[in-house]
Amino acid sequence: MSHLHESEQLRRLQAILEGTRAGTWEWNAHTGEQRINERWAEMLGYTPRELEPISIALWHRLCHPDDLARSNEVFQKHFDGELPYYECVVRLRHKAGHWVWIHDRGRLISRTAEGDPEWVVGTHIDVSEQHINAQLLSKLAQTVPGVIYSFRMYADGQFEFPYISDGVRDFYGHDPESIRQNPNLVFEVVHPDDLEKLHASILESYETLNQWNCEYRVVIDDSEIWLEGMATPERDWEGQDMVTWYGVVVDITHRKRLEERLVQLSVTDELTGLYNRRFLLQRLAELLEEYRRHSVVFSLAQIDLDWFKSINDTHGHLMGDEVLKAFAATLKNRLRHNDIAGRSGGEEFLILLPHTRGPEARDLIEAIREAFASTEFFGDDFEVFKTSFSAGVTEVFNSDYRFDQLLSRADAGLYKAKGLGRNRVHLVMDNQISNDAAGAN
Ligand code: GH3
Ligand code: MG
Ligand code: MG
Repeated sequence: MSHLHESEQLRRLQAILEGTRAGTWEWNAHTGEQRINERWAEMLGYTPRELEPISIALWHRLCHPDDLARSNEVFQKHFDGELPYYECVVRLRHKAGHWVWIHDRGRLISRTAEGDPEWVVGTHIDVSEQHINAQLLSKLAQTVPGVIYSFRMYADGQFEFPYISDGVRDFYGHDPESIRQNPNLVFEVVHPDDLEKLHASILESYETLNQWNCEYRVVIDDSEIWLEGMATPERDWEGQDMVTWYGVVVDITHRKRLEERLVQLSVTDELTGLYNRRFLLQRLAELLEEYRRHSVVFSLAQIDLDWFKSINDTHGHLMGDEVLKAFAATLKNRLRHNDIAGRSGGEEFLILLPHTRGPEARDLIEAIREAFASTEFFGDDFEVFKTSFSAGVTEVFNSDYRFDQLLSRADAGLYKAKGLGRNRVHLVMDNQISNDAAGAN
């Protein structure tokens, strides 16, 4: 009865082993004797008979030399009691010549009377497919211009990188292994100004399961690069809620620089490097809105160079350009950090002065007028000449609802300054400019 029961159990064990498609082996570490099952041989393209005589020499012959050395080390550690099991991934030579990746596991089950390791038993599982997939992934990862990765975050806020490709070195300055051990490293190099946005975008994607997308800067050794990340989230459960993203991070520094350059080009005047008319009017509209909402005052000055046509006529158009550039330089030198100076047309300029009342703006423009009027220019014929400008200045009024109201007031002031003989600044502090015969200058 008991015998029958035992053989029934053996049959079941046999069935389980077959179900796992595992090769099995027994090895006497003392005598070198070895036994294998059919599956063990089959994995390598052989029948057990073809492999005879079966001894440890067979294992030595089939195992990749590098892996053999590693396997021996692990066996030794197991025999010495450092490891509870023997476990190693090794390459064995297939009958057809290629390597088969084997997950080899085993355990010492007896010792000799002297206490030396004796019988060890274990299994072989063919992991070639996983290995080929891993290799394929790593080859693909090398080809992708950027980093491919998976990122996982748990409900309690913990996160990790189950996979991150080698490209991470170039972007974040750390190798994949360091990042797997300390995923925080990735966030430590993100530009402080972008960190909040980055965190928020990840949380948003965690909540909504929408595709994650974010542009942010990374700073390593004072050099800054722009990165763009995109990844697809998948929600799962592992004791707690968790989301895993699969995605890529690419370097978009070049595109960002171009974008910045385009923005710059779209707001600047080419000749002087000052802002252009479009930008000035946009800022003026914004300042007016701020004034209407929060009563933040500002002033503006409309400037026109005097007798400019005659400079062109006398000294040539190029010299005229030089004067325009010199005037722009004077503005840049003399204006305060928050003032906004632009060229609104040919030899006309507009200055926006935030947080500044009319008289203060007038004084500032007046100082610039004096400086510019005393600047000496040298014509082609070494003739020294000076030039000047006229300006109309005004402050925002309670009755201003559209920015052209301010512009026409400043223009009226400019017209007045021209009429009074040029080379002067005229402040307009009321709406009755035509009656303002006294002038505010
Ligand atoms: P006023 O004191 O009345 O302003 O006299 P003005 O000669 O400056 O006035 P007007 O508007 O008649 O002339 C402006 C001249 O500015 C006309 C044009 O030839 C010149 N100008 C406009 N844009 C440029 C430029 O980009 N470069 C040069 N060199 N000249 C320019
Ligand atoms: Mg003009
Ligand atoms: Mg002019």
